[in-house]
Amino acid sequence: MKQSRICVVGSANIDLTFRTPRLPQPGETLAGHALHQGMGGKGANQAVAAARLGASVAFIARVGNDAFGKSAIEAYQAENIQTSCIRQSVDQPTGTAAIMVDDNAENCIIVVAGANAELNAEDVKGASSLMTNSQVVLCQLETPVDAAVEAFRIARAANVLTVLTPAPAERVTAELLSLCDVCVPNKTEITAMTGQTIETEADALRAAERLRDRGVKRVALTMGGDGVFVVDETGSTHIPAVRVKAVDTTGAGDAFTAALAVSLAEGMSFVESARRASAVAAISVTRIGTQTAFPTMSEVNQLSR
Ligand code: ADP
Repeated sequence: MKQSRICVVGSANIDLTFRTPRLPQPGETLAGHALHQGMGGKGANQAVAAARLGASVAFIARVGNDAFGKSAIEAYQAENIQTSCIRQSVDQPTGTAAIMVDDNAENCIIVVAGANAELNAEDVKGASSLMTNSQVVLCQLETPVDAAVEAFRIARAANVLTVLTPAPAERVTAELLSLCDVCVPNKTEITAMTGQTIETEADALRAAERLRDRGVKRVALTMGGDGVFVVDETGSTHIPAVRVKAVDTTGAGDAFTAALAVSLAEGMSFVESARRASAVAAISVTRIGTQTAFPTMSEVNQLSR
């Protein structure tokens, strides 16, 4: 099969996870058990998830001119992600999350956006050929919305499918939704965007239709262990989650969205794409970690056999 081509515009972070017996009090110094350095940021997560599934992936992002930025770029290259349009900011560090997790799995997190906050419409314009050569452009909103709007404008003008993870939801604008072919919110995000709380299937349909009224063509509402609810002009379908023993659900939404994009690029229908994306996300929740948990396509095919 021909390799699908995906362009991701978004955030790149380093996650530093500190394991401690308990969370520190203000002013206190605690000895931790362990430190783990991982890769994160929704943009990078989606780029890595799509690349693992065999897609040809280009990533448009910003990191700092520092050791974290260098190691992030090297890690993406090791996943065969095209990094020529990742700029290194001069004055800002690579986006970093400090995550403290205690022995009861309670956590405290500080995220500094750093270079992510400098990704702008000019960066995106400079990379327009990457988008026009792709089948799908994927955006999230941990980087400025102007960059996402520019990416979707370029994609739409070239007939390239636009897919949005609307997180954080407060950054979503009317213009962005009007340029969005596929929107993939979770329950919290769709409620923030539409004011509709989600208890029943009727609520999910009402919320999705509100997004469609604002210009979104198709909605895939992810509902954790309750699966996904997909809505397009032909109607709505609830796809139950694949039953697995979940051990770590971080990054599940990113695995789902990347797999949805890859499947749509391969020409699968919206419902079939959401089904395969559910399988990809289900595998990712059975493993610890975020990017380390994303499966390859052969692992996904084994599950569906
Ligand atoms: P987010 O990570 O953005 O909050 P969700 O929690 O809705 O997103 O998860 C995204 C998708 O991951 C779900 O639609 C589902 O397909 C899959 N998933 C999440 N949790 C589980 C689970 N416990 N069992 C199986 N699949 C899951």
